[in-house]
Amino acid sequence: MANNFLKTSRLDQFLDALRLFGELHAPTTSESGVHRFSLLDDPADLNLDYRRTQIPPKKYLLPFREEILHCAGDTYREGHCGAVDMVLFGVHSCDLEGIAYLDRVFLADPADPGYSARRASLTLVGVTCHPDDFCFCPEGTVSTACDLFLAASGDGFHLTSHSVRGNAILAAAEHLLEEGVPLQPATSSGLCFPPQDPELRFSDHPLWEKFASTCVSCGACSVCCPTCYCFDVREYPALSGGCTRIREWDNCLFASHGEVAGANFRPERLDRLRYRFLHKYCGFTPLQGISSCVGCGRCKEVCPVDIDLRELTVAPKQVQP
Ligand code: SF4
Ligand code: SF4
Repeated sequence: MANNFLKTSRLDQFLDALRLFGELHAPTTSESGVHRFSLLDDPADLNLDYRRTQIPPKKYLLPFREEILHCAGDTYREGHCGAVDMVLFGVHSCDLEGIAYLDRVFLADPADPGYSARRASLTLVGVTCHPDDFCFCPEGTVSTACDLFLAASGDGFHLTSHSVRGNAILAAAEHLLEEGVPLQPATSSGLCFPPQDPELRFSDHPLWEKFASTCVSCGACSVCCPTCYCFDVREYPALSGGCTRIREWDNCLFASHGEVAGANFRPERLDRLRYRFLHKYCGFTPLQGISSCVGCGRCKEVCPVDIDLRELTVAPKQVQP
Protein backbone atom coordinates (compact mmCIF):
# COMPACT_ATOMS: atom_id res chain seq x y z
CA MET A 1 0.00 0.00 0.00
CA ALA A 2 1.45 3.36 -1.02
CA ASN A 3 -0.27 5.61 1.53
CA ASN A 4 -0.98 3.88 4.82
CA PHE A 5 -3.84 5.33 6.81
CA LEU A 6 -5.02 4.17 10.24
CA LYS A 7 -8.44 5.20 11.48
CA THR A 8 -8.53 6.36 15.11
CA SER A 9 -11.18 3.70 15.77
CA ARG A 10 -8.51 1.06 15.10
CA LEU A 11 -5.83 2.60 17.28
CA ASP A 12 -6.29 0.07 20.11
CA GLN A 13 -5.77 -2.82 17.69
CA PHE A 14 -2.73 -1.05 16.28
CA LEU A 15 -1.30 -0.81 19.81
CA ASP A 16 -1.74 -4.57 20.11
CA ALA A 17 0.25 -4.99 16.89
CA LEU A 18 3.01 -2.80 18.34
CA ARG A 19 3.25 -5.14 21.34
CA LEU A 20 4.62 -7.78 18.97
CA PHE A 21 7.79 -5.68 18.84
CA GLY A 22 8.34 -5.21 22.55
CA GLU A 23 7.01 -3.87 25.81
CA LEU A 24 4.77 -0.95 24.95
CA HIS A 25 5.36 2.40 26.63
CA ALA A 26 3.41 5.54 25.80
CA PRO A 27 2.35 8.94 27.14
CA THR A 28 0.00 8.65 30.12
CA THR A 29 -1.07 10.96 32.93
CA SER A 30 -0.49 10.15 36.59
CA GLU A 31 -3.15 10.59 39.29
CA SER A 32 -1.50 13.87 40.21
CA GLY A 33 -1.76 15.11 36.62
CA VAL A 34 1.87 14.62 35.59
CA HIS A 35 2.41 13.66 31.96
CA ARG A 36 4.94 10.89 31.61
CA PHE A 37 5.99 7.97 29.46
CA SER A 38 5.05 4.72 31.17
CA LEU A 39 4.14 1.10 30.51
CA LEU A 40 0.81 0.97 28.70
CA ASP A 41 -1.22 -2.01 29.86
CA ASP A 42 -4.62 -0.48 29.25
CA PRO A 43 -5.16 1.56 26.03
CA ALA A 44 -7.62 3.71 27.99
CA ASP A 45 -4.60 5.17 29.83
CA LEU A 46 -3.09 6.53 26.62
CA ASN A 47 -3.00 10.32 26.47
CA LEU A 48 -2.00 11.49 23.00
CA ASP A 49 -3.25 14.99 23.77
CA TYR A 50 -0.27 15.77 25.98
CA ARG A 51 1.98 18.78 25.34
CA ARG A 52 5.21 17.44 26.87
CA THR A 53 6.11 14.85 29.47
CA GLN A 54 7.80 16.06 32.62
CA ILE A 55 10.80 13.76 32.09
CA PRO A 56 11.81 13.17 28.47
CA PRO A 57 12.38 9.74 26.90
CA LYS A 58 16.09 9.88 27.75
CA LYS A 59 15.12 8.03 30.95
CA TYR A 60 14.83 4.84 28.88
CA LEU A 61 18.29 5.17 27.40
CA LEU A 62 20.13 6.75 30.32
CA PRO A 63 18.60 5.46 33.55
CA PHE A 64 18.78 7.87 36.47
CA ARG A 65 21.10 5.43 38.25
CA GLU A 66 22.61 2.21 36.96
CA GLU A 67 25.22 -0.23 38.09
CA ILE A 68 27.94 -0.38 35.47
CA LEU A 69 30.34 -2.67 37.27
CA HIS A 70 30.36 -5.07 40.19
CA CYS A 71 33.28 -7.09 41.40
CA ALA A 72 33.77 -9.27 44.44
CA GLY A 73 36.35 -12.01 44.80
CA ASP A 74 36.42 -13.87 41.48
CA THR A 75 33.15 -12.30 40.35
CA TYR A 76 33.33 -9.53 37.78
CA ARG A 77 30.12 -8.30 36.21
CA GLU A 78 29.46 -5.42 33.86
CA GLY A 79 26.01 -3.93 34.25
CA HIS A 80 24.89 -3.50 30.68
CA CYS A 81 24.13 -7.10 29.78
CA GLY A 82 20.97 -7.30 27.73
CA ALA A 83 18.10 -4.92 27.28
CA VAL A 84 14.37 -5.54 27.02
CA ASP A 85 12.76 -4.98 23.62
CA MET A 86 10.62 -1.90 23.99
CA VAL A 87 8.33 0.18 21.79
CA LEU A 88 8.01 3.84 22.72
CA PHE A 89 4.80 5.11 21.15
CA GLY A 90 3.57 8.67 20.84
CA VAL A 91 6.89 10.53 20.88
CA HIS A 92 6.88 14.12 19.60
CA SER A 93 9.34 15.36 16.98
CA CYS A 94 11.39 17.38 19.49
CA ASP A 95 11.95 14.33 21.67
CA LEU A 96 12.81 12.20 18.64
CA GLU A 97 15.44 14.77 17.70
CA GLY A 98 16.62 14.75 21.31
CA ILE A 99 17.26 11.01 21.06
CA ALA A 100 19.02 11.55 17.72
CA TYR A 101 21.37 13.96 19.49
CA LEU A 102 22.05 11.52 22.33
CA ASP A 103 22.82 8.90 19.67
CA ARG A 104 25.54 11.17 18.32
CA VAL A 105 27.09 11.38 21.77
CA PHE A 106 26.71 7.83 23.07
CA LEU A 107 27.00 5.82 19.85
CA ALA A 108 30.11 7.63 18.69
CA ASP A 109 33.30 5.59 18.69
CA PRO A 110 33.76 4.12 21.25
CA ALA A 111 30.05 3.55 21.79
CA ASP A 112 28.70 3.40 25.32
CA PRO A 113 27.79 -0.27 25.83
CA GLY A 114 24.74 0.29 28.04
CA TYR A 115 23.27 2.99 25.83
CA SER A 116 23.97 0.96 22.69
CA ALA A 117 22.20 -2.11 24.04
CA ARG A 118 19.13 -0.15 25.10
CA ARG A 119 19.02 1.88 21.90
CA ALA A 120 19.19 -1.24 19.72
CA SER A 121 16.21 -2.65 21.63
CA LEU A 122 14.12 0.50 21.33
CA THR A 123 11.54 1.03 18.60
CA LEU A 124 10.42 4.64 18.24
CA VAL A 125 6.96 5.59 17.00
CA GLY A 126 6.43 9.32 16.60
CA VAL A 127 3.17 11.21 16.52
CA THR A 128 2.00 14.72 15.65
CA CYS A 129 2.38 17.20 18.51
CA HIS A 130 0.26 20.08 19.76
CA PRO A 131 2.61 23.03 20.30
CA ASP A 132 1.91 25.53 23.05
CA ASP A 133 3.47 28.84 24.09
CA PHE A 134 6.54 27.13 25.56
CA CYS A 135 7.48 25.33 22.32
CA PHE A 136 9.84 26.97 19.89
CA CYS A 137 10.83 24.47 17.23
CA PRO A 138 10.07 25.68 13.69
CA GLU A 139 6.39 25.28 12.94
CA GLY A 140 5.54 22.13 11.01
CA THR A 141 8.73 20.30 11.97
CA VAL A 142 8.26 16.57 11.50
CA SER A 143 11.12 14.37 12.57
CA THR A 144 12.22 11.35 10.59
CA ALA A 145 14.43 10.14 13.46
CA CYS A 146 12.10 7.26 14.28
CA ASP A 147 10.99 3.91 12.95
CA LEU A 148 7.46 5.00 12.21
CA PHE A 149 5.67 8.35 12.31
CA LEU A 150 1.92 8.84 12.73
CA ALA A 151 0.78 12.16 11.31
CA ALA A 152 -2.67 13.03 12.64
CA SER A 153 -5.18 13.87 9.92
CA GLY A 154 -8.97 13.93 10.08
CA ASP A 155 -10.28 10.77 11.68
CA GLY A 156 -6.95 9.00 11.82
CA PHE A 157 -3.24 8.98 11.09
CA HIS A 158 -1.02 8.79 8.04
CA LEU A 159 1.76 6.29 8.75
CA THR A 160 5.25 6.79 7.34
CA SER A 161 8.04 4.28 7.86
CA HIS A 162 11.61 5.44 8.29
CA SER A 163 13.35 2.11 8.93
CA VAL A 164 13.30 -1.61 8.35
CA ARG A 165 11.59 -1.99 11.73
CA GLY A 166 8.99 0.54 10.67
CA ASN A 167 8.33 -1.54 7.55
CA ALA A 168 7.89 -4.62 9.73
CA ILE A 169 5.31 -2.81 11.86
CA LEU A 170 3.39 -1.77 8.75
CA ALA A 171 3.41 -5.38 7.59
CA ALA A 172 2.19 -6.63 10.98
CA ALA A 173 -0.63 -4.07 11.02
CA GLU A 174 -1.53 -4.32 7.33
CA HIS A 175 -5.02 -5.66 8.07
CA LEU A 176 -5.79 -2.47 10.05
CA LEU A 177 -4.65 -0.02 7.40
CA GLU A 178 -6.35 1.46 4.37
CA GLU A 179 -5.25 3.54 1.42
CA GLY A 180 -4.97 7.22 2.32
CA VAL A 181 -4.27 10.32 0.31
CA PRO A 182 -0.61 11.07 -0.49
CA LEU A 183 1.09 12.88 2.39
CA GLN A 184 3.54 15.78 2.22
CA PRO A 185 7.01 14.39 2.95
CA ALA A 186 8.52 15.14 6.35
CA THR A 187 9.64 18.73 6.46
CA SER A 188 12.68 18.37 8.62
CA SER A 189 15.03 15.96 10.20
CA GLY A 190 17.66 17.66 12.28
CA LEU A 191 17.98 19.72 15.37
CA CYS A 192 15.48 22.48 15.64
CA PHE A 193 17.34 25.40 17.07
CA PRO A 194 20.05 27.25 15.14
CA PRO A 195 23.58 27.45 16.52
CA GLN A 196 24.14 30.50 18.63
CA ASP A 197 25.85 33.71 17.62
CA PRO A 198 29.43 33.16 18.82
CA GLU A 199 29.63 36.80 19.87
CA LEU A 200 27.40 36.06 22.82
CA ARG A 201 29.27 33.08 24.21
CA PHE A 202 31.68 34.89 26.44
CA SER A 203 30.06 38.29 26.46
CA ASP A 204 29.25 40.31 29.55
CA HIS A 205 25.69 40.76 28.46
CA PRO A 206 23.67 42.09 31.42
CA LEU A 207 21.18 39.25 31.07
CA TRP A 208 23.75 36.86 32.57
CA GLU A 209 23.75 38.90 35.78
CA LYS A 210 19.99 39.15 35.75
CA PHE A 211 19.56 35.39 35.42
CA ALA A 212 22.22 34.65 38.04
CA SER A 213 20.53 36.94 40.53
CA THR A 214 17.33 34.85 40.52
CA CYS A 215 18.49 31.31 39.63
CA VAL A 216 18.21 29.02 42.66
CA SER A 217 20.41 26.26 41.18
CA CYS A 218 17.59 23.74 41.49
CA GLY A 219 18.74 21.94 38.33
CA ALA A 220 15.22 21.34 37.05
CA CYS A 221 16.01 22.80 33.64
CA SER A 222 18.71 20.20 33.12
CA VAL A 223 16.83 17.22 34.56
CA CYS A 224 13.93 17.76 32.18
CA CYS A 225 16.02 18.52 29.09
CA PRO A 226 15.90 15.74 26.48
CA THR A 227 19.53 16.30 25.50
CA CYS A 228 21.21 16.96 28.87
CA TYR A 229 23.29 13.93 29.72
CA CYS A 230 25.83 14.93 32.40
CA PHE A 231 26.57 11.98 34.63
CA ASP A 232 28.73 11.11 37.59
CA VAL A 233 30.47 7.81 38.26
CA ARG A 234 30.86 6.64 41.86
CA GLU A 235 32.50 3.58 43.26
CA TYR A 236 31.36 1.99 46.50
CA PRO A 237 33.86 -0.43 48.03
CA ALA A 238 32.54 -3.25 50.20
CA LEU A 239 34.17 -4.00 53.55
CA SER A 240 34.29 -7.64 52.52
CA GLY A 241 36.25 -6.72 49.36
CA GLY A 242 35.25 -5.80 45.84
CA CYS A 243 33.16 -2.84 44.85
CA THR A 244 30.12 -1.61 42.97
CA ARG A 245 30.47 1.18 40.42
CA ILE A 246 27.39 3.16 39.52
CA ARG A 247 26.62 5.87 37.01
CA GLU A 248 23.94 8.43 37.83
CA TRP A 249 22.61 11.69 36.43
CA ASP A 250 24.57 14.76 37.38
CA ASN A 251 23.60 18.38 36.85
CA CYS A 252 25.77 21.25 35.64
CA LEU A 253 23.61 23.75 37.55
CA PHE A 254 24.74 22.25 40.87
CA ALA A 255 27.69 23.87 42.60
CA SER A 256 29.27 20.43 43.08
CA HIS A 257 29.45 19.81 39.33
CA GLY A 258 32.58 21.92 38.90
CA GLU A 259 34.43 20.44 41.89
CA VAL A 260 37.65 18.67 41.02
CA ALA A 261 40.28 17.74 43.59
CA GLY A 262 39.26 20.44 46.04
CA ALA A 263 38.91 23.22 43.45
CA ASN A 264 35.70 24.42 41.86
CA PHE A 265 35.85 25.61 38.27
CA ARG A 266 32.36 27.11 38.32
CA PRO A 267 31.67 28.33 41.86
CA GLU A 268 29.25 31.10 40.80
CA ARG A 269 25.73 30.66 39.47
CA LEU A 270 26.52 32.91 36.56
CA ASP A 271 29.36 30.59 35.55
CA ARG A 272 27.11 27.57 35.71
CA LEU A 273 24.30 29.16 33.73
CA ARG A 274 26.72 30.25 31.05
CA TYR A 275 28.32 26.81 30.97
CA ARG A 276 24.96 25.18 30.32
CA PHE A 277 24.15 27.76 27.71
CA LEU A 278 27.45 27.13 25.93
CA HIS A 279 26.99 23.40 25.94
CA LYS A 280 23.37 23.57 24.87
CA TYR A 281 23.51 26.11 22.09
CA CYS A 282 27.12 26.08 20.92
CA GLY A 283 28.13 22.45 21.37
CA PHE A 284 31.35 20.95 22.58
CA THR A 285 34.00 19.06 20.66
CA PRO A 286 33.36 16.96 18.57
CA LEU A 287 29.88 18.47 18.30
CA GLN A 288 31.24 22.00 18.29
CA GLY A 289 28.84 24.42 16.64
CA ILE A 290 25.88 22.07 16.85
CA SER A 291 22.98 23.09 19.03
CA SER A 292 21.48 20.38 21.17
CA CYS A 293 18.38 22.38 21.97
CA VAL A 294 15.38 20.85 20.25
CA GLY A 295 12.89 23.51 21.33
CA CYS A 296 10.76 21.33 23.60
CA GLY A 297 10.12 24.20 26.03
CA ARG A 298 10.52 22.08 29.18
CA CYS A 299 13.21 24.24 30.78
CA LYS A 300 11.10 27.35 30.42
CA GLU A 301 8.03 25.62 31.80
CA VAL A 302 9.68 24.13 34.88
CA CYS A 303 11.93 27.00 35.96
CA PRO A 304 10.54 28.27 39.28
CA VAL A 305 11.86 31.78 38.63
CA ASP A 306 10.89 32.04 34.95
CA ILE A 307 14.37 32.11 33.50
CA ASP A 308 14.22 31.74 29.75
CA LEU A 309 17.64 31.38 28.15
CA ARG A 310 16.06 32.04 24.78
CA GLU A 311 16.13 35.69 25.70
CA LEU A 312 19.84 35.46 25.02
CA THR A 313 19.35 33.92 21.62
CA VAL A 314 16.24 35.53 20.22
CA ALA A 315 16.98 39.24 20.43
CA PRO A 316 19.79 39.92 22.88
CA LYS A 317 20.23 43.51 21.81
CA GLN A 318 16.59 44.37 22.39
CA VAL A 319 15.97 42.77 25.77
CA GLN A 320 16.16 45.15 28.69
CA PRO A 321 18.11 43.81 31.68
S1 SF4 B 1 17.29 23.62 26.44
FE1 SF4 B 1 15.13 23.73 27.14
S2 SF4 B 1 13.90 23.94 25.25
FE2 SF4 B 1 15.98 23.26 24.63
S3 SF4 B 1 15.83 21.01 24.52
FE3 SF4 B 1 16.55 21.50 26.61
S4 SF4 B 1 14.68 21.62 27.89
FE4 SF4 B 1 14.04 21.71 25.71
S1 SF4 C 1 15.31 25.70 36.54
FE1 SF4 C 1 15.66 27.93 36.68
S2 SF4 C 1 16.21 28.28 38.85
FE2 SF4 C 1 16.44 26.06 38.47
S3 SF4 C 1 18.63 25.84 37.90
FE3 SF4 C 1 17.47 26.08 35.98
S4 SF4 C 1 17.59 28.30 35.53
FE4 SF4 C 1 18.15 28.04 37.72
